[in-house]
Amino acid sequence: MGNAESLHREEVRDDEKPLIAPCGIYCGACDIFLGRSRELARELHRIMDGFNFADVGPFFMGIERQEIQAFLDMLEKWAQADRCPGCWSSGGNPVCPVRTCAENQGFLTCAECDRMPCHAGKRTDADPGQDTQFWLELITKRYARWNIGNLERVREVGYRRFIDEMQERVRAGFLTSDVISDEPVITEAFKGAPQGD
Ligand code: SF4
Ligand code: SF4
Repeated sequence: MGNAESLHREEVRDDEKPLIAPCGIYCGACDIFLGRSRELARELHRIMDGFNFADVGPFFMGIERQEIQAFLDMLEKWAQADRCPGCWSSGGNPVCPVRTCAENQGFLTCAECDRMPCHAGKRTDADPGQDTQFWLELITKRYARWNIGNLERVREVGYRRFIDEMQERVRAGFLTSDVISDEPVITEAFKGAPQGD
């Protein structure tokens, strides 16, 4: 296990705190945080809509007009989405039990907790939406254990070196979307739950 001192938490600057989430996700490598895809979506929508692609697409690509329109609508929504400010700056799940749990114990991340990874333990809470183990397990599945690897790396080398290493990878083009599982993790976990519009 690690603790704030041995992990050199005092070397994390205030402006770096939003880069790293309690669960081990590195928000600084997430496109919703970086915002590049919003710009790309805006540009692609401008070009495709300008071409009236819903009109010509069925002839050139054999794709139904409605499908093209649904894609254009999705691009438009994506282009208008807010930038995520990072987990510690009120980004992510507003009622995330992992963040609440870490915050209540004064941890920057679960790397400081001797129960990490607590998702390996037995679930205790009947309400899955509020259960730390459920959420950490869900995130760990969605991120194909990348977040846990990050927390282990923090324990190995401390926060300073971890952040420097991650920033180097981000500069080289790495994004969280490179590690996210292609399994329907969220769909399976929330089967039957009402969906957003
Ligand atoms: S909201 Fe929760 S699951 Fe999302 S990044 Fe923050 S700690 Fe992780
Ligand atoms: S109990 Fe679990 S969610 Fe809470 S800080 Fe420890 S590892 Fe993180």
